[in-house]
Amino acid sequence: MDGLADLHIHSTYSDGMYTPQELAAMAKAAGITAMALTDHDTLKGVTEMAAAAAAAGIGFIHGVEFSTRWKERQVHVLGYGVDINNKVLTDKLEYVRGIRRSRFHKILQRLHELGMDVDLPEPEEGHCAVGRPHIARAMVAQGFVKTVQEAFDLYIGEGKPAYQPQTKITPPEAVSIIHQAGGLAIQAHPEEIGNRDIALELLDTLPYDGIEVYHPSAKEKEAETFWLQIARLRNLLITGGSDFHGNPGRFPEQISEWKVSCKNVQDFLAYFKL
Ligand code: AMP
Ligand code: ZN
Ligand code: FE
Ligand code: FE
Repeated sequence: MDGLADLHIHSTYSDGMYTPQELAAMAKAAGITAMALTDHDTLKGVTEMAAAAAAAGIGFIHGVEFSTRWKERQVHVLGYGVDINNKVLTDKLEYVRGIRRSRFHKILQRLHELGMDVDLPEPEEGHCAVGRPHIARAMVAQGFVKTVQEAFDLYIGEGKPAYQPQTKITPPEAVSIIHQAGGLAIQAHPEEIGNRDIALELLDTLPYDGIEVYHPSAKEKEAETFWLQIARLRNLLITGGSDFHGNPGRFPEQISEWKVSCKNVQDFLAYFKL
């Protein structure tokens, strides 16, 4: 397939700013010919996104992004092409969205103790996997901070006073849930783990199908080349995506600001007949 790919995108079904229809229109305008929706902990947007992508003439793959923890690090695992009706998977996603809701209240309580009464109703279950960006955007709207980034840097980022960790799910669990649902398990943005030895240990011990080599976190050419080599040596599929959320002030703000050519991820696309 020619053109550009973006295989890591968030919508309003998790913590993205845009609906599937808006994403399809923006992707089309940016020259994207293959896209994937990878909302955090939910598959609820994929049917709508598939229809919007088809209407825009864009090849579509559905996915989901699991947040896991390993050795005190945040490790994200992407699952593509899973059976969206697989009960083990949908039950697990519902369970982790429940954890997200209780964490949402804990963060608001911590902010209250810090003197900030952020007024934000809990997003309805069944629609949205709630995350810290929802809280950060409300903090901006209500004048507690100037930007989403400032909300993370001062209050809700890891190690900050209102931070609460998300799930206790581990990478082995996420990989096995994805596999039993018939999907491909991809190590998301390995550079973001912040420790290559830990990322390599996971890649050596778990039956991953691929690595998200192309991602804004691999901003130095050295990082991209490093993960490309690792993927090739281990015979793993190579994927890439912008991790677009649309948060003002956080790269990429527009879907067109970060690109990967379909050629660079062609084996992955071919698996999905794109
Ligand atoms: P959560 O899943 O609720 O822990 O939120 C994770 C999301 O928050 C990520 O997907 C990013 O969109 C955003 N995020 C994480 N860390 C930061 C940061 N330091 N600054 C701004 N946004 C961040
Ligand atoms: Zn997110
Ligand atoms: Fe991620
Ligand atoms: Fe993401």
